[in-house]
Amino acid sequence: MPRLDNGNDPETGGNSRFSDMHGHGGEWRIEKQRLRWDILEAFADAAVEAGIPRSDDFNSGDNEGVGYFEVNQKSGWRWNTSKAFLRPVLGRANLSVWTHAQVERLTFEIDDTGQKRCAGAVLRRQGQTIEVRASRELVLSAGAIGSPHILQLSGVGPASLLRGHGIEVVHELPGVGENLQDHLQIRAVFKVSHAKTLNMLASSLSGKARIALEYALRRSGPMSMSPSQLGAFSRSDAAQPYANLEFHVQPLSLDAFGEPLHRIPAITASVCNLNPTSVGTMRLRSAKAQDAPAIAPNYLSTEEDRRIAAESLRQVRKIVSQPALAKYQPVEWKPGPQFQSDEELARLAGDIASTIFHPVGTTKMGRDDDPMAVVDSRLRVRGIAGLRVVDAGIMPRITSGNTNAPTLMIAEKAAGWMIREQERP
Ligand SMILES: Cc1cc2nc3c(=O)[nH]c(=O)nc-3n(C[C@H](O)[C@H](O)[C@H](O)COP(=O)(O)OP(=O)(O)OC[C@H]3O[C@@H](n4cnc5c(N)ncnc54)[C@H](O)[C@@H]3O)c2cc1C
Repeated sequence: MPRLDNGNDPETGGNSRFSDMHGHGGEWRIEKQRLRWDILEAFADAAVEAGIPRSDDFNSGDNEGVGYFEVNQKSGWRWNTSKAFLRPVLGRANLSVWTHAQVERLTFEIDDTGQKRCAGAVLRRQGQTIEVRASRELVLSAGAIGSPHILQLSGVGPASLLRGHGIEVVHELPGVGENLQDHLQIRAVFKVSHAKTLNMLASSLSGKARIALEYALRRSGPMSMSPSQLGAFSRSDAAQPYANLEFHVQPLSLDAFGEPLHRIPAITASVCNLNPTSVGTMRLRSAKAQDAPAIAPNYLSTEEDRRIAAESLRQVRKIVSQPALAKYQPVEWKPGPQFQSDEELARLAGDIASTIFHPVGTTKMGRDDDPMAVVDSRLRVRGIAGLRVVDAGIMPRITSGNTNAPTLMIAEKAAGWMIREQERP
């Protein structure tokens, strides 16, 4: 657990602004970004001119504002859950870590009290099928796609779906794989002039060498960059009670993740609706664990989501048209200024959008009287003893912000419950 700053900690020099809202000293690391881009500074100024307040801390209770995201880094190096929580305890006698192992299904038995219990799992490793047994309980943490897939392959899920693929129903839970929610980022791209962008910097050998040198010498610059640098949280309209849009602004552009950068100077202002009402599904397509499941997010399938998509693109345009960005002569490239109506903008939003990789909800936590709930308030799978799901899939509703830190919080809570239950069963 992170401990709260008491104001005298050597790590913060007793001068931390984080004393009330932020802990420190725990396993998880959060740092300020080590970079500055003039074009992003100008975008932030333009956002202020468009009515979004400045923020130097999105995690102070009210996230509305524009500023740089904090990042999971330690002295400029990427920080992750493996480095934070796993590697420091790898030497423990009661811990074995197997990589390159795919869980294919869970196994079940009837316990002494006549209850169905998870007995373990069957997995593939180095070309071999291995069965492992759980002496106490099994924790499934394969993510919002992987966990419901494993449950369905194991006969836990919607009965008609499982029978349709010849899978014996071990326990019917209609909510497994339903209620899929995600944030859809609408990626508006603007060509700019007289601005330094990563597109141009990385297009030459000398530019690449400069980037590498800066990282090698100072652990700063583009190689220390997280996927998103400048952020903003705002309301799509004044009636919203709190910020329902999140912007990720990048000094670069590309057609899709994994594709090369464009070879023209351009920036991307992506915007997403943080409280989407569109809900999708994650369903297996065959009884074979190796076959990828069908993921149907149903983005923009509600009138409300389409309206907010159009409003959010208008807000991007409002920001980009402010005086602070004028010297960079931004020209809207995608979706394109010729598109103005709500219908066009909602359709174009779908064309230029992609997931922001925040799937949640497919093994949702819920009350006893909710037939679609998969896990209870301590993440125990309903109707099966000795089985928990601990990952982003248990969120009943998507968070109105990024999902990684909330998932760590879920894991930490679950770990606490498991320890306490062991001490006092
Ligand atoms: C490209 C990308 C960028 C992101 N950026 C951000 C960000 O900037 N900020 C933020 O807050 N969130 C971000 N996210 C989202 C964040 O990573 C997730 O919300 C978080 O990782 C969810 O944690 P999880 O434990 O539920 O699932 P995961 O982190 O996906 O962990 C599930 C694990 O289970 C393994 N697995 C799955 N199936 C099996 C199987 N059958 N057998 C064995 N292992 C299996 C997977 O390999 C994976 O290691 C990003 C995600 C992606 C993909």
